[in-house]
Amino acid sequence: MIPPFLRVRDAGKVYPGGTEALRGANLTIDAGEFVCLIGASGCGKSTLLRMIGGFETATTGEIVMAGKPVTGPGPDRGMVFQDYGLFPWLTVQGNIAFGPLARGKSKQEAGRIAERFVTMMGLDRFARSYPHQLSGGMKQRVAIGRVLANDARLALMDEPFGALDAMTRERLQEELLAIWRSTGLSVVFVTHSLEEAIFLADRIVVMSPGPGRIVAEERITLERPRDVSSPEFNAIRRRLGVMLHGDHPGPHAREVA
Ligand code: ADP
Repeated sequence: MIPPFLRVRDAGKVYPGGTEALRGANLTIDAGEFVCLIGASGCGKSTLLRMIGGFETATTGEIVMAGKPVTGPGPDRGMVFQDYGLFPWLTVQGNIAFGPLARGKSKQEAGRIAERFVTMMGLDRFARSYPHQLSGGMKQRVAIGRVLANDARLALMDEPFGALDAMTRERLQEELLAIWRSTGLSVVFVTHSLEEAIFLADRIVVMSPGPGRIVAEERITLERPRDVSSPEFNAIRRRLGVMLHGDHPGPHAREVA
């Protein structure tokens, strides 16, 4: 039998100091699937993401990717953070070439790989620019290009568009979906925004705090591109809003926290 692409089995995390950030999380992610994690602040979304990335160890349970327990970070799992996490001393091209070089590719080969992803991310004109010369949206494109240049099979994205203005955010959501579709990448995407989750995800995983737990999952079968103003979209938004906020979603139901 082929093992699942990614399996989180009974995973729990207690931080030194005693905070129980996550309890008994079970989740299976298929190859090529786009999963969004949503829930109030402090419900363990980042913790679960970092555990899948291998940056945090599970206190109980385990994370298994393609049959192998995750014991640390690896290039097959690329992280994208809200604050970009680019190397400020490297150019766009240098940031994207960094991973391939670190994995032992020759300078020439790493340069070729970087060029390919610089182009894919629409950054040709900025290949020689440094991060501080770029807009937030461009920096996040570099971060995504870096994950792709590593041949990552899974992108772990922690509120990657949270710091961007609404228009840039919408554009990057669409670009991310196009990349996801053309590469077959799996994505686990943390967001505060219910609307963002419904726009992007194949499946939404709802978490709740105290301790962090997975409380529900919802498969989103709306055809893409999704119309955020359609009655179907709104019906899902209302239903998940109630799940996240109780019986009275109120005017701010779109944002979880
Ligand atoms: P979310 O991403 O849903 O906001 P987090 O995973 O960041 O939630 O945090 C879950 C809980 O774990 C919170 O109570 C948070 O304060 C705590 N926590 C997160 N990281 C650490 C850490 N490195 N050390 C101690 N406690 C932490």
